[in-house]
Amino acid sequence: MTLRSRTLLTIQTCLLAAGIASSAWASEGGVVDTSSSPLAQLQNVGMNEARWTDGFWQDRFELCRTQMIPGMAKIMEGTNQSQFLRNFEITAGLVDGKPHGASFNDGDFYKFLEGASATLAVTNDAALKARLDEIINVIAKAQDTNGYIDTWVQLHHRGGETNVVPLAAPDRFEVYNLGQLMTAACIHYRVTGETNFLAVARKAADFLCDAFRKPTPALANNIICPSHYMGIVELYRTTRDPRYLELVKKIFATRNLIKDGGSDNQDRIPFAKQDEAEGTAVRANYLYAGAADLFLETGDKNLWRPLTEIWTNVVTRKMYITGGCGALYDGASPDGSRDQGRITRVHQSYGRNFQLPNTTAYNETCANIGNVLWNWRMFLATGDARFMDVVELELYNSVLSGGSLDGTNYFYVNPLRVTDPMPTNLRWSRQRQYFVSSYCCPPNLVRTIAESANYAYGKSSDAIWLNLYGSSSLKTTLTNNQNIALRQTTEYPWNGRVRITIEKCGSEPIALKLRIPGWAESASVRINDAPADHSPKPGSYFEIRRQWNAGDFVDLDLPMPARLMEANPLVEEDLNQVAVQRGPVVYCLESPDLPAGMHISDVRIPSDMHLTTRYDRRLLDGVVVLEGRAFAQSQGDWDGKLYRELEPVELKPFNAKFIPYSVWQNRGKSEMSVWLPRVP
Ligand SMILES: [Zn+2]
Repeated sequence: MTLRSRTLLTIQTCLLAAGIASSAWASEGGVVDTSSSPLAQLQNVGMNEARWTDGFWQDRFELCRTQMIPGMAKIMEGTNQSQFLRNFEITAGLVDGKPHGASFNDGDFYKFLEGASATLAVTNDAALKARLDEIINVIAKAQDTNGYIDTWVQLHHRGGETNVVPLAAPDRFEVYNLGQLMTAACIHYRVTGETNFLAVARKAADFLCDAFRKPTPALANNIICPSHYMGIVELYRTTRDPRYLELVKKIFATRNLIKDGGSDNQDRIPFAKQDEAEGTAVRANYLYAGAADLFLETGDKNLWRPLTEIWTNVVTRKMYITGGCGALYDGASPDGSRDQGRITRVHQSYGRNFQLPNTTAYNETCANIGNVLWNWRMFLATGDARFMDVVELELYNSVLSGGSLDGTNYFYVNPLRVTDPMPTNLRWSRQRQYFVSSYCCPPNLVRTIAESANYAYGKSSDAIWLNLYGSSSLKTTLTNNQNIALRQTTEYPWNGRVRITIEKCGSEPIALKLRIPGWAESASVRINDAPADHSPKPGSYFEIRRQWNAGDFVDLDLPMPARLMEANPLVEEDLNQVAVQRGPVVYCLESPDLPAGMHISDVRIPSDMHLTTRYDRRLLDGVVVLEGRAFAQSQGDWDGKLYRELEPVELKPFNAKFIPYSVWQNRGKSEMSVWLPRVP
């Protein structure tokens, strides 16, 4: 049996056989470790300290553990489509073969390993840990003695392409790959306490320290899709080796050497002068997340000012109602500039202000996850609930939309409207796929779901922060050394009632900080059945500070009526249209729920539509559907016509059923729209 087939069998078998263990390896720090970050207002809890116990997120975590990761392992071990791990085995000299796959496949393999490692924090699965150790051993063998590792470059060079050498061309994504390696290695170390993967990451970082000893503009041009700022900062936090913080500062400053940059890589102008999100949305959001990481360590105001201005630009002008980031497939930026020489081509990109087309929206799943990574770090730096609002919006809508309910297929792009026929042919399918050549999003989604419980809580010296709601348990030690254990019980996001029960606590007062989402008007809090002495304010954290006893409980009620939403009138594509949102969940209409023969473009929504709420456990693995009386207006014959004289309007009532946007396209090929025209 070859190494490849043994690995395949074992990863799948381990994950399927493992249950949820009552304990796991010790772990320090969560997905981000700000425990020593001078600017952090709070820190993550440990990787094994928070875990989903029931309901929405536990279902997603189990799907991730038992379906997504084993299915992905099959692809990652090497198939006709690509060969991720196989490339490392060939590079290590363990098997013969030729390189195959995209230049960024190493990075996506590391993301997969990060996700698998994160599940260990909950499952304590010794067999999976052992398999990961074998894979890490292969990666270590593939690494050059100087620390460089990038199988695409190494194998093409060995194959006779002598001009393929390290850090010589941007489309090889080497530093992106190395950044993902460092992040994955830190998570693996935090979960397992083992240093084998971390040692590979340190050697790779040492290689970069050497490579960036004397930075040049050419070198700066060759580092794109910057996962490396996050990765190297995390490595610094993990090892406390000051050389790595210096390395991040140096690489970041190297961006300023670029004289002929463009919006696509956010290097048209120095970062310190930027105030608008531009260019490839994945690269942009990774850059902003990395800059926020650097700010957390340095407090550099030249990072914070652009970060806050770009954030305001995204949230008030460039983000979809679903949280989607990246309006354009292709375009030009800065579009419409007086200075034509400044305009550069952009791809998979943020568009102009208020340019948010629905059918042609790009919204790559990685960009939406990048927005989670960015907003999480902004939150750690401020404790400001508005950043968690974005994290939550992303997760429930344009992140989870990236995967199918059976855990097998994935979206690369996440449009808000799909019609049949489409107005124009566009790359990437409107149906989730088992494999796409750009396989960056699926492992990104896997690691995000695998680590989702870690975003639910935060801690500071004498406070627990409840950021995301979902049935879960938390056992942690505060930075003032007090132990606390609590349990959260809720049907969120289908129901806004949450109970938090204290199971264990010390004798000193502790604050519970409950996030009150920005949408949550008339929220209320009761403590041991008595009303709190003041009212929660939407978009803030509601603090309850007291000496707790085991058995104390807090009831949070976040009423979530279905709401009709409208967009700023400058968003032309949403003019006179409405969307439906309930709590953090954005809804859509999908053609399987329309009367026979009706198209999505026929639907008209009355401005005063009353929506009723119903949990349907048989539909789409159990969702709350919203139902109300809408109208159908047949479009008649448009064949061959762009315009016609206005025809009489005949509206026929029908019962519209809205489903959560994230679960559309789980019933075969369909039409779908989030925004729908309204009628008086
Ligand atoms: Zn992607």
